Amino acid sequence: MAFELPKLKYSYDSLEPHIDSKTMEIHHGKHHAGYTNNLNNAISGSELENHSIEEILKNLNMENSALRNNAGGYYNHNLFWDILSPSGGEKPNGKLLESINNGFESFENFKEEFSKAAATRFGSGWAWLCVNENGTLKVCSTANQDNPLMPGIGCDGFPILGIDVWEHAYYLNYQNRRPDYINAFFNVINWEKVNEKYLANS
Ligand code: MN
Repeated sequence: MAFELPKLKYSYDSLEPHIDSKTMEIHHGKHHAGYTNNLNNAISGSELENHSIEEILKNLNMENSALRNNAGGYYNHNLFWDILSPSGGEKPNGKLLESINNGFESFENFKEEFSKAAATRFGSGWAWLCVNENGTLKVCSTANQDNPLMPGIGCDGFPILGIDVWEHAYYLNYQNRRPDYINAFFNVINWEKVNEKYLANS
């Protein structure tokens, strides 16, 4: 069974002014579609066609760069669209907020640490908030389309929030001002969804 590009639950222009419509259109319709097609090509005719994307990532041969880049790219963008919302931006609540306060002392400290991980990721990559089985949280970042679920990535836990810091995610609107994009991202985070992922994976 082939992987499919997910339909977005909001329109391309609905995250403006924080993420512009043209960037969304190209990011989802071209970049994510490209990862999806290339992932399907990479697994075509192999037993991996019957595996979930999580299984593929967890058991990945890291030397298979076509699979590493495109399985990562497929999964990472699925998560990214899922945790964005035009009505996002409120602070988290519930168990997730409790855990953020325990792990980072305050939401503001968490935001600073996450933003720093995203801003200082050299070149292309992602910053993540990951949860461990005991419910503790950790911020980390990965290069290119790597993902915390991949073996030996040094970013343990299950990713529940991620920001894409590839230039294709922000350059049309923000050019070289990656920190401004990171700050704007916080206005469109769907914390309810992140909390759901926290509860399901801790
Ligand atoms: Mn991207």
